[in-house]
Amino acid sequence: YFITFEGIDGAGKSTHIESFAKLMKERYPERNIVVTREPGGTQLGEQLRALLLDAPMNLETEALLMFAARREHIAQVIEPALMAGSIVISDRFTDASFAYQGGGRGLSLEKLNSLEKWVQGRSDGTLLQPNLTFLFDLPGSIAEARRSKVRVPDKFEQMDLDFFEKVRQEYLRRAKADPQRFHLVDATQNPEAIWNELKSLEIKL
Ligand code: C5P
Repeated sequence: YFITFEGIDGAGKSTHIESFAKLMKERYPERNIVVTREPGGTQLGEQLRALLLDAPMNLETEALLMFAARREHIAQVIEPALMAGSIVISDRFTDASFAYQGGGRGLSLEKLNSLEKWVQGRSDGTLLQPNLTFLFDLPGSIAEARRSKVRVPDKFEQMDLDFFEKVRQEYLRRAKADPQRFHLVDATQNPEAIWNELKSLEIKL
């Protein structure tokens, strides 16, 4: 079972992942829980992450590196874990590429769709997709105010409000198009309220 956490920078998703993983372990003690992240999740993926977050690069290069890191992540971590019956929880996955490289920076949907097919395609013609995606949604301005309190911005976090609003709108568009998979979390709420919401959700594996 594959669960992803998504949202713009400063939405608070990373804060909740560890406690959510603990909750899943309590509920399913017999299952192994794998917590991972993108870009990253493997040794090569983490090296690519360091490059992506630091070096200026062409948009297509950025997308290709994101998906290269993802391919490695799927092959080395996600697929083997799912095959072994583990619950995989990832901080970001492909929705982030559609939102950031697509919505935010303008890479065409066509290119993103073909990369997705390439990287997530299985031999039976289906695509590997999360079973459940939490989308932490909030206005770009609130996210920005939160970020500036807690950390030094990486390359992507230095973008302006308009960029984050475009990223947000693309996330929302995808959530609307696939309500079965997405669970929208109102990330303007305080952390306790968000946690109560996550806790009370019934998840059928
Ligand atoms: O999730 P996290 O904040 O660790 O992501 C690292 C950075 O990479 C973020 O600033 C995020 O905006 C950016 N990113 C991106 N495109 C992706 C995934 C992450 O621009 N597909």
